[in-house]
Amino acid sequence: MSLMMLKELIRNSRRINKYFCHNYHLQVHRNYNFSYDRLKEYRGDTPTRLLNSAAGNAVAYNNFITLDNSLNPKPLNFNLIWLRDHCRCPECYNYSTNQKRCSILDIAQNASVKECTVENNILKIIWTDNHKSTFSLEWLSQFYNNTKKCECPVLWNKRIMKSLNIKSIDVKDFLYSDKGILELLTSVLRFGVGFIKNVLPTKEATEQVIQKISHTQRTFFGDMWEFTDSLDHEDTAYTRDALGAHTDNTYFSEAAGLQVFHCLHHDGEGGETLLVDGFYVAKHLKEKYPTSYQRLTSTFIESEFKEAEKHYLACGPILKLNSITGELEQVRFNMYDRAPLKTVAMENMQDFYEDFINLSKIICDPQNEWWFKLQPGTVLIFNNWRVLHGRAAYTGHRRIAGCYIGYSDWHSKARTLGLL
Ligand SMILES: [Zn+2]
Repeated sequence: MSLMMLKELIRNSRRINKYFCHNYHLQVHRNYNFSYDRLKEYRGDTPTRLLNSAAGNAVAYNNFITLDNSLNPKPLNFNLIWLRDHCRCPECYNYSTNQKRCSILDIAQNASVKECTVENNILKIIWTDNHKSTFSLEWLSQFYNNTKKCECPVLWNKRIMKSLNIKSIDVKDFLYSDKGILELLTSVLRFGVGFIKNVLPTKEATEQVIQKISHTQRTFFGDMWEFTDSLDHEDTAYTRDALGAHTDNTYFSEAAGLQVFHCLHHDGEGGETLLVDGFYVAKHLKEKYPTSYQRLTSTFIESEFKEAEKHYLACGPILKLNSITGELEQVRFNMYDRAPLKTVAMENMQDFYEDFINLSKIICDPQNEWWFKLQPGTVLIFNNWRVLHGRAAYTGHRRIAGCYIGYSDWHSKARTLGLL
């Protein structure tokens, strides 16, 4: 059929019935792969009338369906395999396990449309194997309009932190109401940090509080750990020395998501806690040294932890970007745990050290440091993918209880609370 003939045919099809229209479209588009706009142009009216549906219309093309409806300013395209893959009928989706039931091999084979209609904001598809799927347009629209609210990080340095006035949540509110945990996780999502007050200064009471968020992440440090100045592990944390700002677990393929500290006892001087907002310093680096920022997001370096019978090693960029959004997702900064550097070519080594020094200077700038003394009774919880921590040297006897919580675990909790 020539283009002219086709044009004529479409012009003459104004009175064509709805069912025929569907098939007609399918045929036309299979053969000529017309765009939605061209079809509109040839017909001289809108496909809404063509399909004669009250709330919208659907046009099936070779491998997608175009939907036009009042919920969206623009027509939406849905791939046919995608639609069949997302069929939510009980045959395709198991509502008791929230899992798909079908094999992708069967789905792909049966992803051709016999008929599709939109009525009352529901897209109904009859597939060529006579399987039926229905989708609400509202449900489909979410894949185009990302309207989900999420807590945007508020970046801080020393000055900004003073004005933020992060509120500590009382342990009773935290343990016995949903409001408390909602506030705590909101604070962690927003500032990277949250506090719970009036907790008994024991490891057990700290653990009880933590369980409200999730189970702990077990590592070679244990589940709930308690560290003092006795060298239980070959790690600087287990001394009285000062510790520069760093993130933990750069030697794990997935670093702990949250870190929890509770000072149970200290009878000496010093030992103040240092926190630095890694997202703030990365933003500062990006503005001041964009090339350094770019290279630190794409240069992979190794970090390691070694003691008897153990050798952990992981490789990653110091500034890790989310692979979908391209936004900064994780700061992996630890001066102490860097493995012998062999992943950077010698001819690029000078650049790497310049970049690393540029970032380190910003991290160590006192303007970006937030110092405070942890008191028994107050549990500190912070995002180890964002906030760097350190401490001042101290005297006397000091006991800190704490633990890690997995990134997936605290995100799961935040998602169930509607925060993600
Ligand atoms: Zn189905």
